[in-house]
Amino acid sequence: MLGLMQDQPLLITNIMEYAALNHKDGEIVTKAVEGGIHRTNYGEIAKRSAKLAHALTKLGLTQGDCVSTLAWNTYRHLELYMAVPCMGAILNTINPRLFPQQLSYIVEHSEAKILFMDLTFVPLVDKLIQAFPDQFSAVKHMVIMTDRAHMPASLSGTALENALCYEELIEAEEDTYDWPKLDENTAAGLCYTSGTTGEPKGALYSHRSTVLHSLSSCSKDSLGISKDDTVMPIVPMFHVNAWGTPYNTAMSGSKLVLPGADMTGENFYNLIKDEGCTISLGVPTIWLALLQHVNSLGDPDCTQLPIQSFVIGGSAAAPSLIESLEKTFNAAAVHAWGMTETSPLGSVNRQLAKHVNLTDSEKMAIKVKQGRPPFGVEMKIVDDEGNKLPRDGVAFGRLMVRGPWVTKAYFKQTDHNILDDEDYFDTGDVSTLDPDGYMTIVDRSKDVIKSGGEWISSIDLENVALGQADVAEAAVIGIAHPKWQERPLLIILPKPGANPTKDDILGYLDGKIAKWWTPDDVVFIDQMPHTATGKIQKRDLRETFKDFKFTT
Ligand code: AMP
Repeated sequence: MLGLMQDQPLLITNIMEYAALNHKDGEIVTKAVEGGIHRTNYGEIAKRSAKLAHALTKLGLTQGDCVSTLAWNTYRHLELYMAVPCMGAILNTINPRLFPQQLSYIVEHSEAKILFMDLTFVPLVDKLIQAFPDQFSAVKHMVIMTDRAHMPASLSGTALENALCYEELIEAEEDTYDWPKLDENTAAGLCYTSGTTGEPKGALYSHRSTVLHSLSSCSKDSLGISKDDTVMPIVPMFHVNAWGTPYNTAMSGSKLVLPGADMTGENFYNLIKDEGCTISLGVPTIWLALLQHVNSLGDPDCTQLPIQSFVIGGSAAAPSLIESLEKTFNAAAVHAWGMTETSPLGSVNRQLAKHVNLTDSEKMAIKVKQGRPPFGVEMKIVDDEGNKLPRDGVAFGRLMVRGPWVTKAYFKQTDHNILDDEDYFDTGDVSTLDPDGYMTIVDRSKDVIKSGGEWISSIDLENVALGQADVAEAAVIGIAHPKWQERPLLIILPKPGANPTKDDILGYLDGKIAKWWTPDDVVFIDQMPHTATGKIQKRDLRETFKDFKFTT
């Protein structure tokens, strides 16, 4: 017998309309790409999204069509986040930091009909179209996300000669729209993986997966976003939906602070202080930039600021980073894990009641874990043959996940099965699971160092090395070894002005790691390569050090 409750579809439209009705004065603050601070609210965003939907309809956009963006975290991008999926079209947010070939590939593969861009990316798009005209042939319109006064002085002779101006486009349109009642499984958003090997692959989110992800992420044991919060996603809206913040903030009615194109520690600090942010989210490099800025100000007392939590994800949060953030701001550093294919939230680190009386160092041993999955996400670890491994916090294997906001197939690759026979998706991460459900990433499966049949975690080594006072960034890669198959090479970017030696670093590691994990050598570099999402680019390091030979 079936239940007798209403089968209302779970739609992003409901999030937008709910926010407009119940949180219409909830503030949205943007550090505008044109300069200055822009203020609006959920009521206005809904009205302007309706205007945008009318304009898009007139441009010929229909259900199932794709709109691509190259844009920062701004209120206009938020309007696209609402209008495009609510019309039944698909919003494809593109990471501008990808290689030109990858960017053009994504535009072609997504079959984008309209391309929106911030002023910052006008020269990039011009170059891309000049270099890859065929890939852009399906793009019918381009829109620059600004007003007439800030449109580039001259676009004649460029590939953007006919580009439209966002504000002009929506100006005369009506501010209500008859949003369609969509099937909740309708595609809503399309994000491509950064693709370290092969072409980027598209994760295609649905309205249903997005709503469930948003509901889950608001809960206290996840991101804990409520109407009382002021949330600043520094994680970009061009990468995995800024970890869901455009939707979960609208759902909860929290104030939303968008840092725009200004990715400096100074901007983050000023917005935290001036707008009273309580939760901010970003990758470790963002927090390092924030801490460096505070340091450059002479370490002012930040403990009275209202910030309560810094969510850290995207790559592992080192204990030294967690400690610095917590001490400097008297706030919680909350470690989280996820990926493009998991919408992204897969786990969040919250302490259990039984942890309250632990010592600081015992608590830190828990905080560095990637956290526990929220209800809805199931995890298991398996060996290379697919056998389940114990959840004892020791055994490690491939991390597999399943749930209603986890990818089941890549865009346009539905004939290619990416799930195991229990419908779990292979994350490509190697992890442990402990009896309390905490997941700890040991490594990316391709980064783990295979030494004499045992595995060494590059992440663990990097985290320990980061605790040395002279180290700004640390990366460990495996170097071929005649006896052990691979041995670790530690690559260090020293802090400005610091000159550590190999002995300083190895001396620091001594006693903090298993002896056989000790890197066989330490090298110093003056620039660390990063991926388009701010992670250390190990592929480049492997290339740079491909001929490296250990001398001992
Ligand atoms: P992306 O799809 O670009 O967001 O990358 C996802 C990958 O980033 C994951 O599969 C992990 O390898 C890595 N990652 C994300 N969060 C963390 C974290 N907290 N600690 C370690 N690695 C992480």
